[in-house]
Amino acid sequence: MNCVFCRIIKKEIPSKIVYEDDLVLAFEDIAPQAPVHILVIPKKHYSTVLEMKEEEKELIGHIFMVINKIAREKGFDERGFRVVVNCNPEAGQTVYHVHFHLLAGRQMHWPPG
Ligand code: C5P
Repeated sequence: MNCVFCRIIKKEIPSKIVYEDDLVLAFEDIAPQAPVHILVIPKKHYSTVLEMKEEEKELIGHIFMVINKIAREKGFDERGFRVVVNCNPEAGQTVYHVHFHLLAGRQMHWPPG
C-alpha cells in the first residue's frame, strides 16, 4: 500500500515527531495552518473515520488523550485549540489515512471554511 502516512510511521519519510507510542504517532503538519499544527494518527491504517468501528472505541479515546497531553504540554489548555477530522471529499480530506488535526496558537473562526 502506498500510503504517505504509513510511510511516515515506518520512518521511510522523515517527519518532526511530537509524540509516539505503540498505537499512535503525532507529527508536525508539513503545511501548517496555524502556529501549532500537529497531526495525530493511528499506526493502524484506516482510510477514513467511517472505517473506525465499535472495536476502535478505545483507540479513539486514546487518540484524544494524546491530543489533550500535547495541548497541555504546549500550553494551549487554557488558551484553547481545535481538533479537526476531515472525512471524504466535501470535507477536504486529501490523505486517506485517518488523522486528527490539532490546531492552536491563533484565534480560530466559526464556521470553518
Ligand atoms: O485532512 P486532510 O486530508 O486535508 O489533511 C492532510 C494533511 O496532511 C494536510 O494538512 C497536509 O499538509 C498534511 N501532510 C503532511 N505530510 C505529508 C502529506 C500531507 O503533513 N507528507
